[in-house]
Amino acid sequence: MRVAQIGSGTPEIAVLAGVHGDEPCGVRAVERLLEERPTVQRPVKLVVANEKALERRVRFVDEDLNRVFPGDPDAETHERRLAHRLVEELEDCLTFSMHSTQSYADPFAIVDGVDETAARLCPQLPVTAMVETENFAEGRLMTEIDTIEVECGQQGSESAAQNANRLMRAFLTAVGVLPGDTVSRDLPVFRLTDVVPKEPADTYEVFVENFTEVEAGAPFAAADGNEQVADEPFYPVLMSPYGYRDVFGYAAEKLEVLESPTAAD
Ligand SMILES: [Zn+2]
Repeated sequence: MRVAQIGSGTPEIAVLAGVHGDEPCGVRAVERLLEERPTVQRPVKLVVANEKALERRVRFVDEDLNRVFPGDPDAETHERRLAHRLVEELEDCLTFSMHSTQSYADPFAIVDGVDETAARLCPQLPVTAMVETENFAEGRLMTEIDTIEVECGQQGSESAAQNANRLMRAFLTAVGVLPGDTVSRDLPVFRLTDVVPKEPADTYEVFVENFTEVEAGAPFAAADGNEQVADEPFYPVLMSPYGYRDVFGYAAEKLEVLESPTAAD
């Protein structure tokens, strides 16, 4: 784990990258910020989490870091020990954690639930949707630390790296670390309702677009050519053929659209 700070004092804001070692976009954004060393209005902590996995360009060394929080200092696995140290490091910080996916190119935000902070900040980020994980957050950083996660784009892509940089700067502007104004937009909110499992197979396919409603009766994925059909309508989220080992992704419901406040003042 690498920890740095810009600005003096005790930070209440943190930017976190490299929770998954095969998602370099956030690390590049953090490194760029450290090189630039901009003048800040309040201090910010910058953390690169899983350096071991980043070096090896793998998601994790022993197990998925974002499924083992709060971690354990005496654990056998690298990620469980690291999770414990991360919680200590980020305890008092609102944390902005950058990820990338195999499922969807446009950035979106992921939160535990839509609280006042999420409702205020997420519409100021250049994202197309906000996802509430609610019952599916077990083991994730957000169960321990006040966190806004963002998916920046396709894993390893140049656009994900550029998006990470834009997202991080918008977040840092919205919380008053960087000077300036943000642009607000209307933001649809989705809540995860189910995990979409996948059977062991050699080949997988996904036929649907994330965040686009799948109708009841429609085939949405296949394992070795065996189609899976929707029992009821749902919105696919984080769904991809090979992104996760034993699930295609998640089913979600659409809740509301957070309207951006009109610029009255
Ligand atoms: Zn990730």
